[in-house]
Amino acid sequence: MIQYYMPTKVFWGEKCLVRSAELITGIGNKSMIITGRRSAQLSGALTDLLEALKKKNQDYYHFSEIEENPELMTIQEGAELLREFNCDHLIGIGGGSPIDAAKAISVMAANKLQGREIYEGDKIKYALPIVAIPTTSGTGTEVTPYSVISDRETRKKAGFGNPLIFPLMSFCDPEYTYSLPQKVTIDTALDALSHLLEGIYSRKRCDFLFPFIFSGIKLIIENLELVISNPQEYLYRENLMRASLYGGFVIAQAGTTLQHSIGYPLTTHYELSHGMANGVVMKEMMELYSSDISEDLNSLFSFLDLSQEQFYLWLDEWIPDTRLELPEDFIIKAAEEIMGSRNMAQNPREVSAEEVKSILRKL
Ligand code: NAP
Ligand code: FE
Repeated sequence: MIQYYMPTKVFWGEKCLVRSAELITGIGNKSMIITGRRSAQLSGALTDLLEALKKKNQDYYHFSEIEENPELMTIQEGAELLREFNCDHLIGIGGGSPIDAAKAISVMAANKLQGREIYEGDKIKYALPIVAIPTTSGTGTEVTPYSVISDRETRKKAGFGNPLIFPLMSFCDPEYTYSLPQKVTIDTALDALSHLLEGIYSRKRCDFLFPFIFSGIKLIIENLELVISNPQEYLYRENLMRASLYGGFVIAQAGTTLQHSIGYPLTTHYELSHGMANGVVMKEMMELYSSDISEDLNSLFSFLDLSQEQFYLWLDEWIPDTRLELPEDFIIKAAEEIMGSRNMAQNPREVSAEEVKSILRKL
């Protein structure tokens, strides 16, 4: 049996936000806008949103303190502000960090949760409506029921998932990604690529997803270099944003796997961006699973008209060639954390702690 659930209304294309302003202002009385410190402004999305809200005299409160890999304490602060300023829905603008923060603030405020209670699924009964406006092409969070939050105290990064946090609407305008620095463009594309590949690895993979997976991967391979040399070319930016959206469609159903779990401690301890943390283990992951999913990988590479070796060579162009050389005490601790993560349930077969350690030792 296949189940497919995607309740988010996606608006796509140039100026889609400005053209659909009345839909946002129809959601509630007071919006809480959630952003990082600079990107919402830089991308042009905040200006478009404020114009839309102004047209309809919509009241709002703007919380602009979301850091990369949002912190639990910031989510707690956001939830308190939401209640103080009586907001009834959230609009996240940015990369995955502010949009995931909007999702987490929504459930923390709606269920009156404290701190780590956010990871306790049975405590989440309600959510305030969420609007997502992506300014990166990577996470796909604009169409997923997940939010990933970091706990500074335990130095652990962990996601939670609940169908209630699928955004109600997402406005995807590729122009908002023109201002992305080159590094963020590359790293976020690697994140999207991970999501698409994980749709093949996941135990929850289903054939509905394969058209998204195959064409999303092809879009990244064909467009990443073009975007790097023409960062303001609509078509190439659009193609990357489309691949990211497809990646979101895929993980919303299939979930993520060890590929993502192994990246989290690399981000919290070695400051690798989320996308690059996935990128550095991508080859190892494909090698690990190759025999379990060989038929699907063969179909992928024949669709791409590439050999697995050629794909690895393409990947090498985007990954720094310096090794991480992780210390053994980190490897032991990280392996324990990784083995306990929820994503491990989706691996195509049982993976042992020894296998995880041996991958970490190769990085
Ligand atoms: P991000 O952490 O949201 O942003 C990375 C950097 O890029 C920030 O400095 C940000 O600036 C800047 N930036 C974003 N858009 C920009 C633009 N258009 N122009 C200039 N600068 C811009 O990066 P991300 O990779 O999109 O999100 C990563 C987070 O998403 C991680 O926490 C990851 O775990 C999570 N994630 C979630 C899902 C999901 O389904 N929920 C899936 C995968 C990953 P500001 O700080 O000023 O905003
Ligand atoms: Fe991701």
